[in-house]
Amino acid sequence: MYDLLVIGAGPAGISMAAEARHAGVDHSKILLIEKAEEHSFSIKKYYPESKLVSANYKGFEAKCTGVMCILDMTKHETISYLDKAILDNQLIVHYSETVWRLHQNDDKSFIVYTDKGEYHCKIVTIAIGILGKPNKPEYKIPLVLKEKALFDVTSVKIANSKVLIVGGGDSASEYCQYLVQNGNEVSLSYRKNEFTRMNEINHESLLELEKEEKVKILLGSGIVAVEDRDGKPCVKFQEEKLGEQIFDFVVYALGGTTPNNFLKMIGIEFDGAEPILREHYETSVQGLFLLGDLTAGTKGGSIIWAFNSANTAMNKICTDYLNCKIN
Ligand SMILES: Cc1cc2nc3c(=O)[nH]c(=O)nc-3n(C[C@H](O)[C@H](O)[C@H](O)COP(=O)(O)OP(=O)(O)OC[C@H]3O[C@@H](n4cnc5c(N)ncnc54)[C@H](O)[C@@H]3O)c2cc1C
Repeated sequence: MYDLLVIGAGPAGISMAAEARHAGVDHSKILLIEKAEEHSFSIKKYYPESKLVSANYKGFEAKCTGVMCILDMTKHETISYLDKAILDNQLIVHYSETVWRLHQNDDKSFIVYTDKGEYHCKIVTIAIGILGKPNKPEYKIPLVLKEKALFDVTSVKIANSKVLIVGGGDSASEYCQYLVQNGNEVSLSYRKNEFTRMNEINHESLLELEKEEKVKILLGSGIVAVEDRDGKPCVKFQEEKLGEQIFDFVVYALGGTTPNNFLKMIGIEFDGAEPILREHYETSVQGLFLLGDLTAGTKGGSIIWAFNSANTAMNKICTDYLNCKIN
């Protein structure tokens, strides 16, 4: 019987386990289950290699309440910090394992079923983020363009090419900056007439690139279809003046969606589109908590938000369930 089972080993899941260790829970009583072959998969996949990881991402105050914290740092430093947390806290992580089902017993403990076995535990925290399911455009993308219409900038090497980024948030700006550095000719299509979701640094960097004619910004532009033109994406814009344009790559930076089906399947109640969350991120199922991006609403979260959510949940877990003490 584990005291704590954590689903997802990203910033939220790792800090949840670190909080539990700090509160005195033995490492043999905590289990992390991660679907990917490695931890923090979303960061590794979606962050451009040269990205500066900002502590106050999306304008969240960079104030840490728990045992884990970051300053502005590189992608590599961020991953090393998370590696170290796993090592220092002697955390047990089962990689390449997927949770299928969860059952709550009459005594309120849980059985967690995965593709590799079943585990018994007192508390379950879900920290699977929202990036497992990136938002897609409304139109269909032809299958043959699978390697040309992308949702990240790390799975295929993009250099010296003509690239269209679609989106208007921080990721869109960061993708532009990264792709310009790699010698690409970059355009950015955003459906709104102004950028309202970008932080100041990303906004200024983007405008600077536009001034230097390294990025062409197409504000107020709508895409109605992407078709295959001899193996390249042909983008059909709604606006007559933009017409049809052929690119080597189209990269979508449209954010992610809460994995509602998974959460509903394991018995969490919803109020409309959002899972019901009680105090300290406890769900409608007693002893089952959500963490990280899953608690941040439509605006999306940040790494420090994820760390702090784990600390908040641990307070309740200690007081109500595990009889431990958190500083
Ligand atoms: C391009 C981009 C740039 C960003 N830049 C910054 C920044 O500069 N600063 C900042 O603070 N934040 C930034 N963010 C946001 C930040 O990455 C997220 O808020 C943070 O990673 C959320 O942590 P999490 O642990 O909730 O989820 P994730 O980081 O998404 O981790 C979830 C983990 O769970 C695993 N998982 C998924 N499904 C399952 C399952 N069913 N079973 C088991 N495991 C599962 C995933 O493989 C992953 O390892 C950025 C996001 C993006 C997309």
